Amino acid sequence: MSDIRVTVWNEFRHENENEFIGGIYPDGIHGAIAAGLREHGFTNVGTATLDEPEHGLTDEVLAQTDVLVWWGHKAHGDVQDAIVQKVQNRVLEGMGLIVLHSGHHSKIFRKLMGTSCSLRWREADEKERIWVVKPSHPIAQGLPPYFENDECEMYGELFDIPAPDDLVFISWFEGGNVFRSGCTFHRGNGKIFYFRPGHETYPLYHKPIIRQVIANAARWAAPAGGPAFPYTKGAINEREPLAPITPKDSKRARIG
Ligand code: ZN
Repeated sequence: MSDIRVTVWNEFRHENENEFIGGIYPDGIHGAIAAGLREHGFTNVGTATLDEPEHGLTDEVLAQTDVLVWWGHKAHGDVQDAIVQKVQNRVLEGMGLIVLHSGHHSKIFRKLMGTSCSLRWREADEKERIWVVKPSHPIAQGLPPYFENDECEMYGELFDIPAPDDLVFISWFEGGNVFRSGCTFHRGNGKIFYFRPGHETYPLYHKPIIRQVIANAARWAAPAGGPAFPYTKGAINEREPLAPITPKDSKRARIG
C-alpha cells in the first residue's frame, strides 16, 4: 500500500475524438494509468485533464500532489504557460514528475530540460525490445532483463535531451533504431522520469509490465522528505553569517 498522492494528467482529446482510440481507452488514458497505480497499491490517485478549469491543476491540486504523471500529444500548445510555470515551481519544490511518451514535446518537459526534446519517429506497428540497463535502479525493481512490445510507434535517437542522471532503459526497434526509453533527471528538489511507451493507438497502459514501471517510478519520484527547497521566493541574501567574520578594511561597493 502507498499513500503517495499521485495526480495523472491527460490531454484527453484523442479518446473523445476518435472511436478506435476511445475503444482502447474507454476511461481515458488517465483512467487506465490511474487504474494501474491502484493495482499496485496506490490509494491516493487523482486525475486531471486539459479541458477542466486550470487544466485540473489548481493551486490546491498541485499543493496536494506528490507525483504528477503527464500524458499529452496533439495539444501541447493549448496548455497555459501560467500553469506550466506553476508545475515547474512545484517540481523545484520537490514534486515528482513522470513524463510519458509524446509528453517529450510538452511545454513542461521542454522547460525543465532546456532543449528541443525532439526525436525521430515512425508509425509502422513495429516490435520494440526494452532493455534494463540500470538493474540497481528502484524503477527497475522486479523487472526481467528485457521486455517487449509486439507493436508500437518507434521513437529513435537522436533524442535531444540533456544527459540523464540515470539511464534505466534502452529500446531497440525492429526497423533498426534505438532510443533512451527511461531517463531520470533532478531539477531543484524534484525528481523527473521520462518513460517512452504509450502511443494512443496501442493498449500499452493496460499492460502489466508497463503499469509496474509507472508504479515503480511513482514511488521513486515521490518527495524524499529532505530539507525544503530554499529558493521558492528567489535567491537569499544571507546578510547574517553563521559565525563572526573578521572586519576587513574593504572599499568595495556592496550592491545587496
Ligand atoms: Zn505517439
